[in-house]
Amino acid sequence: MSDATARLDEVRGRIDAAARAAGRDPAAVTLVAVSKTHGADRVRELLQVGQRVFGENRVQEAEGKFPALKAEYPDLELHLIGPLQTNKAREAVALFDVIQSVDRERLAATLAKEMDRAGRRPACYVQVNTGEEPQKAGVLPAEVDAFVAACRDSHKLPVVGLMCIPPVDEDPSLHFALLAKMAARNGLDRVSMGMSADYETAVRLGATHVRVGTALFGSRGT
Ligand SMILES: *Cc1c(COP(=O)(O)O)cnc(C)c1O
Repeated sequence: MSDATARLDEVRGRIDAAARAAGRDPAAVTLVAVSKTHGADRVRELLQVGQRVFGENRVQEAEGKFPALKAEYPDLELHLIGPLQTNKAREAVALFDVIQSVDRERLAATLAKEMDRAGRRPACYVQVNTGEEPQKAGVLPAEVDAFVAACRDSHKLPVVGLMCIPPVDEDPSLHFALLAKMAARNGLDRVSMGMSADYETAVRLGATHVRVGTALFGSRGT
């Protein structure tokens, strides 16, 4: 068994166990394999053993790897999980199937315009800064409901869920529970939360998408 197979089996097995323990259907949890900094060959290893959903945090890096992989695997689903600058919105709409980092009005407006122009509508998540960290992207918890409404009603964006990255030095449980609650309150059924260190906790608290890099690909170095 290759390393890629073993790691994928391990992570998928832990997701399934955490879901069952919480009384949830394991099939309701999608593993997003975060391939940032790793080359196309590493992505292909996982594609060859059945993984289809990938996450990248930079438009430019993804543009270098994924067009060829998508041509080889038409059912590959690519998520943007990092901050998006408005001047990269056109490229993001062209390449990504899901954009998880919508977090400000101007970006929402630009994405809406680019989607109309391209005739392509990637599903959108609103990123929430649950820890209210000044340096971190995402809308503040108090602003989520109004921002989701603006994205849907004013900009007609296909908003399907919420995403968060909790503060590194806090128990993520409170953040995950808060995000799930805000999603439910807004009628959004997808919740993207949990990374290598805490994806089982996230699954217990209702994650429909976990974003796992290191546990699948190994360390990114520095
Ligand atoms: C890098 C990254 C991940 C994956 O982190 P790991 O700890 O390597 O699993 C998840 N989400 C976002 C937004 C990231 O940038």
